[in-house]
Parts: sequence; C-alpha cells; structure tokens
Amino acid sequence: MKIHFLGAAQAVTGSCYILETAGKRFSVDCGMHQGNAEIEKRNLNMENYRPGELDFILVTHAHIDHIGLLPRVVAEGFKGKIYATPPTRDLMQILLLDSAHIQEMEAEQHHRKGLRRGHKTQPPPFAAGERRAKGAASAPHAVERRDTMQEQPLYTTADATATFPLIEAIEYNKPFEPAPGIRVTYRDAGHILGSAFIEIEYQEEGKPAKLIFSGDLGRPNQLILPDPSTGGSADYVFLESTYGDRDHKSAESSREELAAAIAYSYKNGEKVIIPAFAVERTQQILYTLFLLDQEGKLPKDMPVYLDSPLAIRATEIFRSHPEYFDDATKALLKQGKDPLALPNLRFSLTADESRALNTMTGSAVIISASGMANAGRIRHHLRHNLWRKGASVVFCGYQGEGTPGRKIVDGAKSISIFGEEIAIAAKIFTIGGFSAHAGQAEILEWLKTFDGKGTKIILIHGEVRALNKLSELIHDRLGLEVHVPTYLEELTLEPGKVMVPVVDIDKALPRIDWDFLLADSRTLYAEFQKRMELAKQKPWVAQTELRDRFMDVNRKIVELISEL
Ligand SMILES: [Zn+2]
Ligand SMILES: [Zn+2]
Repeated sequence: MKIHFLGAAQAVTGSCYILETAGKRFSVDCGMHQGNAEIEKRNLNMENYRPGELDFILVTHAHIDHIGLLPRVVAEGFKGKIYATPPTRDLMQILLLDSAHIQEMEAEQHHRKGLRRGHKTQPPPFAAGERRAKGAASAPHAVERRDTMQEQPLYTTADATATFPLIEAIEYNKPFEPAPGIRVTYRDAGHILGSAFIEIEYQEEGKPAKLIFSGDLGRPNQLILPDPSTGGSADYVFLESTYGDRDHKSAESSREELAAAIAYSYKNGEKVIIPAFAVERTQQILYTLFLLDQEGKLPKDMPVYLDSPLAIRATEIFRSHPEYFDDATKALLKQGKDPLALPNLRFSLTADESRALNTMTGSAVIISASGMANAGRIRHHLRHNLWRKGASVVFCGYQGEGTPGRKIVDGAKSISIFGEEIAIAAKIFTIGGFSAHAGQAEILEWLKTFDGKGTKIILIHGEVRALNKLSELIHDRLGLEVHVPTYLEELTLEPGKVMVPVVDIDKALPRIDWDFLLADSRTLYAEFQKRMELAKQKPWVAQTELRDRFMDVNRKIVELISEL
C-alpha cells in the first residue's frame, strides 16, 4: 500500500490522502487548502491528484477542508463514485454550491480590480469546463501565474452541480466493496452530523491489512450528536491531531461563558457577535441558546439573528435527519421541544436584511459565518462592532493560522477589514467547549479503545506544535510507533515492517531565499542613500511627502522585526 499525502500533513486544511493498492488508486477526502496565499496555491496543482486516474473517493465528512476540491477534481476528469453518509451527502451539496459561489465572486472581484489597474483580461467564465480551456491550472507554471489564476474561479457552480450525481450514500456500520478486494466500513465519528471515521480492509500478497482514517474526531457528551464510535483493531490509524496539544473546557463552562458575554453586552445595550461555521457549530450554539433560554439567562428582549443563508439551510438539513441525533435530543423532540428553534430567533436571508442589522440599535445576538472571520457576512458585523466598547465577540472554534479570527484571538489591537483598519475595543471571548474536535485527552482515550500493541499511528490534520506533543504522548503513554508525514510525502506500508517515507522536500516546501532578499534590500538602500542629496534639493512640500513614505517603510521594517 502506498499513501500520498496531498494535504493536512503538518497542516490542518486540504485533507486528501491518495491510496494505491492492487492496481487501484483512490482517495480519502479531497479538501480545500485554506490559509495564506502560499498555502492556497496548493489548490491549483492538479498534477499531484491526477483526477482521471482515481477510481473512487471516500468522504469522511462535509467540511470544506475535506470536500472542497471535489468539483475541481470532477471538472479535471474524475468519473468514479464519491461515497458519503446520507447527512454528509446533503450537507456537501449546500457547502459545495456555497464554496463555488465564493470562488466565482472572488474571481469576479479580482477581474474588476484587474480592469481598474488597466489589465486587459477576460471576464471569468462561469460555465462548466470553460475555465479549464482558458485557465493554466494544470500547467507546470501555475504557481507563477497566480495573478491571472485569481481571475479564474477554482471551480464554478456548474462544476459543483456536476459533482452531485457521483455521490453514493453509505450507512454507518454497513461494510461495502468499492472495488474488488477493498472492504470499507463507515463508523460514526461524532464530529458533525454524518461524520465518519473509515475502516479500509485489503489484502497484499495474500496478507490481510486494515487501515483506519479518523477523519475529524468528535468528542463525547456533545449536544445533538452521539459519542464517537470506538473499539476494534487496525494495523495503521491515520489520526487527526488538531487539538493534540491541549484539552477543551467542558460544554457547561462554555455555556456559562456564553451567558457571561450575553449579560455583558445586554447591560451595555450592545451586540454579541458570534462568528460560527454554518454546519454543526451554529446548531450547537442555537441549542446552547435554547438551554440558556430555558434557564432564564437569555433576556426576552434580546433577539437572536441567524445571519447566514448557508447556516439556515444547514439547520434545515439537521432537522431532516433526526435519526442521527443523540438520545437526549431525540427525547426533547419527543416532548415537542425543538432545541434548534428559539422563541426570539430571526433569520436574515437576504443581503438587505443583513445590512439592516448594521444600523439596528439595541442589544442582540448575531450568529454569522464564516467561523474564522475570513469571509462572509461576519466581516460586516465585525467592522460595525469590533471598535465598540461594550460589544462582545465570541469565538467558539478553531482559528486557522493567518486568519483574522486568529489575529483577534491572539490579542491584536486592530485588524484590517475590507482594507480599513478597525480598532478592537469589544470584549473578546474564546470558548473552547463548543469544539467539534476531540481534545488531547479525548484523542488518547479514543485510541486506547483499539486493541493490538502493534498498531502504528500516522498523525495528520494538525499544526506542528500539536503533532509533536501528541506524538510524544502516544509514544510514551501507549508505547505505539508514531509517524508524522510531510506534505507531498509518499509512504509505503507493509504490516509488520518499518514504514518507508519518501519526500522531495524542495518540491513540498520550497526553500525561501532570505539571503537574496536581504542583499536586494541592501542594494536598494545604498541607492537611496546615494540619492539623498537629491531629495534635499526638492521643494519642502515634496520633501515632507517623501519623508512620510520613508517613515512608512521604516514602520514596516519595525513590524517585520517584531514578528521574529
Ligand atoms: Zn471537520
Ligand atoms: Zn478537518
């Protein structure tokens, strides 16, 4: 068995593992790379995926970092089946359409920006297939052509729609054979509605072997969802490590913190802004607000707005699959109580309804996407509320490196939104208890339920700090062998033998030539010094402008130094 790590290797996004055995080539997940520009370039490089040569794709769950590249892979020639649980299938459809819509809008914005800069560019094509004829996506130099690529959507809504007929629904705990000799079973991962960890059984040279891909692993005692399934055995477990370096607070203490944020802003007549992922997190928050309402901790005259068409649609999908809820939620429904429907819950579907919230006075709770504040309507709410003393912003999920959410949580004094610097005066709450991911102790507990001392662990879906910490703990406490793969690594597995990783590090993580950059700035600075006398001869007003720009450069350098 050969595994290619095309994402979420020493990173959290872009989950995609391509497996090769017995002449078959298939993938577990096909997620979008999210982060800074350099990381997102990875979405353009289809050479590594070779979609036309993939036989099938197994999807763990509907988060974009696990499914976000499917339309692109389909547009580039993938014709096999995509397996997912029924709730995942339904959630995938709204999430992929939403993602395609964002791609199209961003491409359109870049196109208009290009026009204003005087570039003669083609408008972005919005029909399936066209983009590929014009785009340089699969060309070896795609990376250098990023500027033109940005004006082409990564995929279109037509590409997303073309993906849906390939999805085949799979129930939990029912083994199936996507190809002869490869047996697959989905188990409940308790992470989001429909999420699964996947068991893959196969034979090589007459010897049976079993892999488990944890997908994203949930936590016990969450609202709505049953606890993650446990038990069994495996030769190799591919284990997510998002929170490998820390534990979460309990859901109860998070409920108290949310109550504190509500009380604080209600007293000040201000708003509580909650950036939330549309799927699962939003529903967990609605459920928590329902519980707070029952406890009398949500003021009756404090309306709750769900300002995200996607979250509204996702909530409908949740309601249509009550058979996947946990026993506590099923019991509530039986009593005629709907924890996803609050008495003072209001929906803003249209952009006008959303804008109206910006000027609305009085206290309110606004839940909006995206969860990391890097896209969507939440940016407007942050722009209108971050600078207001008395308002609060409640972050309740993982904040990826480089995102605005991460900067705010890390204590930034101000943040740039739509090119405008917004001061941060609102009270910032970071509530870990709503996390849909298992924390460190919960990951270890889950791992302990698997028997077999010979199980080898491959740590994925984590940042370096979390991976290192978890790797150390698994090795020391459970005595298991651990491997941490790199992006673009190729790993050969043979049960009972050592794992053999191969990676072309220059290709995976190209070296950054700092010496060249420094030499370049020295040359420029020398040139500037040489021309200093000329600056002094300019009229005084022109000199003040040059001085200000020079000070800007110095300020930028101070900023750079402070980040080291
Ligand atoms: Zn997830
Ligand atoms: Zn994930």
